[in-house]
Amino acid sequence: MDLTITRENLEKRGFQVSCFETGREAVKYLVSTIKDEEVGIGGSVTIQQLGLYEELGKANKVYWPWKPIDGIDDQKMRELAHRARIYFSSVNGLAETGEIINIDGTCNRISATLYGPKKIYLVVGVNKIAPDYDQALHRARNIAAPLNCQRLNRKTPCAVKGDKCYDCNSPERICRGLTVLWRRPTGAEYEVVLINEDLGY
Ligand code: SF4
Repeated sequence: MDLTITRENLEKRGFQVSCFETGREAVKYLVSTIKDEEVGIGGSVTIQQLGLYEELGKANKVYWPWKPIDGIDDQKMRELAHRARIYFSSVNGLAETGEIINIDGTCNRISATLYGPKKIYLVVGVNKIAPDYDQALHRARNIAAPLNCQRLNRKTPCAVKGDKCYDCNSPERICRGLTVLWRRPTGAEYEVVLINEDLGY
């Protein structure tokens, strides 16, 4: 996919953008850029597939709730990740027009992508890109969220077929908060790392 339009529209909205053909190239860039930092990571299959926790952990202190540390409970891990100077997340939908959409359950991840860290990296595979805002929102709700419910074995209607969102009232609903970044929030640096491969959901 040609990432030029997406890149240009993100840049117009104030986001720094870096583009890579492969995840391997993106990881190499990130590892060479980030050293001696505290890094937090939000829940992300994309970041898991890239092995970023392991790679960044060679030269940084990395906190990721998906990788428990002895003596630190889940809540504390989320706090440590949130307080880190650098934060990593993926997104659930990215519009070619530049809007960035995320849905969360605990909402620690979307919270950290709004305010707190000094720099936020949003790592995005090409499969997350939709032509416009409405389609990116539709993607986040009807593709990303049901597949995440399946991954988490949630008892939600969407997890049965993984086909669409049923806007459920299930106590196991994972969709509890939605963020849209229209422009770069003014309190931090943001870099969108676009990768021309399918990654995550
Ligand atoms: S709102 Fe419910 S049905 Fe819709 S994607 Fe989220 S968990 Fe699934």
